[in-house]
Amino acid sequence: MRAVQVTRTGGPDVLEVADLPTPEPGPGEVLVDVAAAGVNFIDTYRRSGAYPMSTPFVAGSEGAGTIARLGPDVSELAVGDRVAWKEAPGSYAEQVCVPVAEVVPVPDSVSDEVAAATMLQGMTAHYLATSTYPVGKGDWALVHAAAGGVGLLLTQIVKLRGGRVLATTSTADKAELARGAGADEVTSYDDFADRARELTDGEGFPVVYDGVGRATFERGLDALRVRGLMVLYGAASGPVPAFDPQTLNSKGGLFLTRPSLAYYTRDRAELADRAGELFGWIGAGQLDVRIGGRYSLADAAQAHEDLEGRRTTGKLLILTS
Ligand code: NDP
Repeated sequence: MRAVQVTRTGGPDVLEVADLPTPEPGPGEVLVDVAAAGVNFIDTYRRSGAYPMSTPFVAGSEGAGTIARLGPDVSELAVGDRVAWKEAPGSYAEQVCVPVAEVVPVPDSVSDEVAAATMLQGMTAHYLATSTYPVGKGDWALVHAAAGGVGLLLTQIVKLRGGRVLATTSTADKAELARGAGADEVTSYDDFADRARELTDGEGFPVVYDGVGRATFERGLDALRVRGLMVLYGAASGPVPAFDPQTLNSKGGLFLTRPSLAYYTRDRAELADRAGELFGWIGAGQLDVRIGGRYSLADAAQAHEDLEGRRTTGKLLILTS
């Protein structure tokens, strides 16, 4: 089978297509014919060595496809089932072994592409808006990079819950997309804290969702109201430097959390609940999943370049055919 392999960590050019043996599903695993693999920022952290990996490894972790073989003790799934997953190392490939605990069934109303595009970014947007800070009616939320993969979905979910969104984006086209997803206000990365205060008569917002990191984190604290919550969930612009907790006191007894999807999908039931609600919204036409780019396995390096180069909107997919 063809797969995108990394033999040494580095820039996008270390992503190379290789012919590798079809993997064997072990106990508790299924072998899946991959239709679409999702491209995520975490794939770039692993490729570059920012998140240490032992080489060689096949890139990617998210995808959707059809079960081709069952591991020795697997009885609850069947060959031919359409499934999706957020975490199966080696998903930029024609075939991958997925642990049963990670498998989510895909309903007929959701295509393979949309399923692959929903698992990691969709479930992230879901836990951010429903669990980390459960957005209530009328709540203002600051959503950074609102035209991105997580950002477009998070904006829509905040709106579904009756909240209001102040979005940041870097270009006019991206601002238009954020508005299309329901953002009430869109602003630049220069004045979002002032804008948040203007919109709330000086009080500030109850929550900031920040996946940009270094470039926005500190100023984001100034957008929060007393006892507001800073949700730092990523580092698209680089990691946030060391930080004095006393700042949280001087800016209003703020709360800070650095969540990960793994802590919000702790067992199969929680994973199935989040995916089920997302697929339900998609089937009912309440949530639009924008596929911003489709690439072949051979173009995986280009996908990473585009994502890191800030040239993308919505979700990027790698298609196997
Ligand atoms: P996006 O599609 O949002 O792409 C990143 C966006 O960030 C860019 O398009 C860009 O939008 C913005 N950005 C701002 N500054 C920079 C910069 N210096 N370099 C690159 N991009 C920049 O990516 P994802 O939706 O895949 O991920 C968004 C964030 O969410 C990432 O940090 C990722 O690691 C994190 N994440 C965290 C998870 C968790 O559970 N904690 C799970 C999933 C993702 P613009 O041009 O408008 O500024």
